[in-house]
Amino acid sequence: MSGLGKLRVAVIGAGAAGLCAARHLLSRPDTFAPPVVYEVTKNIGGTWVYEAKVGYYDNGLPIHSSMYRDLRTNIPKEVMSFPDFPFAKHLSSFVHHTEVRKYLEEYCHHFRLWDHIQFGTTVASVTPVRVKNGWNGLAWNVTSNNGLDLSKSTTERFDAVMVCNGHFYDPYIPTIPGLEKFKGTLMHSHDYRSAEPLAGKSVVLLGAGLSGLDIAMELSNVDAKVILSHGQHPLTCPLPSGVQQAPPVTAVLDDGSLEFKDGKRAKPEVFLMCTGYNFTFPFLDEKVGVKVQEHLVWPLYKFLIPPAYPSLFIVGICRAICPFPHFHIQSQFVLSVLDGSFSLPTREEMEKDIELDIAARRARGISTRHILKLDSEQWAYNDQLAQLGGFQPLPRFWSNLYESNKVFRARDMLNYKTYNYTLLGEMEWAVHNLHGQQ
Ligand code: FAD
Repeated sequence: MSGLGKLRVAVIGAGAAGLCAARHLLSRPDTFAPPVVYEVTKNIGGTWVYEAKVGYYDNGLPIHSSMYRDLRTNIPKEVMSFPDFPFAKHLSSFVHHTEVRKYLEEYCHHFRLWDHIQFGTTVASVTPVRVKNGWNGLAWNVTSNNGLDLSKSTTERFDAVMVCNGHFYDPYIPTIPGLEKFKGTLMHSHDYRSAEPLAGKSVVLLGAGLSGLDIAMELSNVDAKVILSHGQHPLTCPLPSGVQQAPPVTAVLDDGSLEFKDGKRAKPEVFLMCTGYNFTFPFLDEKVGVKVQEHLVWPLYKFLIPPAYPSLFIVGICRAICPFPHFHIQSQFVLSVLDGSFSLPTREEMEKDIELDIAARRARGISTRHILKLDSEQWAYNDQLAQLGGFQPLPRFWSNLYESNKVFRARDMLNYKTYNYTLLGEMEWAVHNLHGQQ
């Protein structure tokens, strides 16, 4: 604790991660002052706030959400939920995105978060300051603007900052030689909303991640002729009719056709990139030293904490994870660091830990761009944070159902969302309550 009484924590973003951070901070009034949650839009929910239009909001800010109209979740609600707040009972396991937004709004009501969110407020800069009485001799100046109005900026001082600004909004476009020569419609999945505008068209869809596969299925339902171009070629799971596979696009030729790695060519009407997103922290002072390189954000101890400035926390940057439970664990770990129940190692020790961890991942053949993809390792990571921070780990049910769903999805891409785990979830919840773990 700082010598200044209760710790003041700023939270940047009111998406699922920021709400979760606020929920935990508010649960500890002994140690933490009510947080200030800065949110650039007028809504909570981030990714889950569907916008039918693309480009910019009326106030000139870029549209944040990459949600598309018909999206249903790819994780069953039984384990997608925060472990202390289940989705409504009547819903089936794979819910429409509107239900997730409602769920997050209910979470906000239940944990009384609304009053702590400053809507329409953009965090423009986050700067560390050395102070005598601060937590670890450190404090943070957070400067925010009302929308785009730079003349009306205010700066507040905090003991710590939790960065929860999301990482699915700044499209990543891979370097493809000759891309400017493509004459058809070039778009990124960030701007994909529904299949109808592409009905009957020829489409090369680059990237077979979860969004790529989902969108390929939507397009096949409107008779688009889809070539799914990707690096894991060929996928062995059954794909929808009308979807062919191809290796990655390597170049765009002078006549505007796309060339694939195997030398074959196609001249589609639409080139749709489902190639993921960039991490960006435009507000973060350079001296904090957090860098983004080939989709790796580093140096961060436990993928959260820059060793030189250990009262800043970047929450939710890991990929291929079960996001809400992951935020739940990370948020509690942050609290355990700030309240002293977990004593951070020294700066040098944390730097060494990061170095060794990255080296070990590289030695296992993981390229830099995939280091943040935790996948099945997420459970050991979560358990470790819970153990270090001295709080309840996730019940095994979370990893069991999440991992099973992954297997079913890979085997049965076309139908896995029709499976239903609601009874299983209710049983788990009953056991959970019986043990008083709520
Ligand atoms: P976000 O939801 O992106 O929220 C970040 C918030 O920060 C936003 O509200 C934004 O406006 C605000 N913000 C950003 N910068 C600033 C700033 N400078 N100042 C103030 N506010 C700022 N996850 C699942 O669990 N299940 C799924 O089925 C699933 N499907 C997905 C489908 C798609 C198409 C996408 C894109 C993602 C999906 N995800 C899914 C992942 C999803 O993004 C996470 O579940 C989660 O919503 C991420 O929450 P977040 O708070 O980290 O980020």
